[in-house]
Amino acid sequence: MIVVMRAGATKQQIFAAVARIEKDGFSAHLSEGAERTIIGVIGDDRPVERHTYEVLDGVEKTVAVLKPFKLVSRDFQQEHTTVKVNGVVFGASSISIIAGPCSVEDRAQLLESAHAVKEAGAQALRGGAFKPRSSPYSFQGLGEQGLQLLAEAREQTGLPVVTEVMTPEQLPLVTRYADVLQIGARNMQNYELLKAVGRGSHAVLLKRGLMATVEELLMSAEYILAQGNRRVILCERGIRTFEKYTRNTTDINAVPVMKSLTHLPVLLDPSHGVGKWAFVTAVARAGIAAGADGLIVEVHPRPAEALSDGGQSLLPERFAELVQQVRAIAATIGRE
Ligand code: PEP
Ligand code: MN
Repeated sequence: MIVVMRAGATKQQIFAAVARIEKDGFSAHLSEGAERTIIGVIGDDRPVERHTYEVLDGVEKTVAVLKPFKLVSRDFQQEHTTVKVNGVVFGASSISIIAGPCSVEDRAQLLESAHAVKEAGAQALRGGAFKPRSSPYSFQGLGEQGLQLLAEAREQTGLPVVTEVMTPEQLPLVTRYADVLQIGARNMQNYELLKAVGRGSHAVLLKRGLMATVEELLMSAEYILAQGNRRVILCERGIRTFEKYTRNTTDINAVPVMKSLTHLPVLLDPSHGVGKWAFVTAVARAGIAAGADGLIVEVHPRPAEALSDGGQSLLPERFAELVQQVRAIAATIGRE
């Protein structure tokens, strides 16, 4: 349920409503809009007596949120959430692009990639140091050494760093280096990990699971917000279908659907979505046209030598073309 305060409700009235909600054993989540404050009443699934709150001073009305996701829903917050990371904003009118290699492989590869994507117009650098691989015999990532290289690349380029965290145990280490914590498709429903990043304040890039519905993705985001961290960016990265020609099937539908259901920023990952470099730019264009707030794209200076996902990685010059094309599409739909 949400409690909608009157426009002009005083701080004391809001405070009293929060105190009452907490006294009843719920947690109160404030959303301060331009006109009025909304309070999310979050707790277990037991029914809430709406009348109790409707009679409080300064309360305009209460509204039942029938969707299973509450804090992430547009019912709770109308305005877009913007997630700011070292001067880069996700979810604003401008499109933000994260780019870089799938994995951090060595110093030269990472620094070369970082400078190239910056030159081409990326706003943030990606690179995995802990890699979730289908085979235990595949390259698993450089671990802390990879994180140190990402920090060095950030120092040289000024680009904030996005990197994956796979377990709650890795979190203290990864948060020391990362600006944005990526939770990968395979971990979208790792609830202990979701709760752990929810207790922190780092921005989180939450990717859709391989077999997850939009609602399941939003429920996973709800886990993070329910713990207090609202800096969540969602990412459509393709789902499994019967189609075998491409690695996954990019669910373009999910972009406008999620933008209508949630106030959180929505990015598209065309690299994993299609899985073949030749189609990445086309899918990226489609995502921006569909209303995505940005992209995360795999770029490698020598894709043939990549230790992971070389087949879907763009050469830097192709990535530069992608940025140009995306810029043109953004302009036609009124975004920068
Ligand atoms: C990645 O970003 O390299 C990755 C492993 O992505 P996903 O979790 O979407 O498969
Ligand atoms: Mn990858």
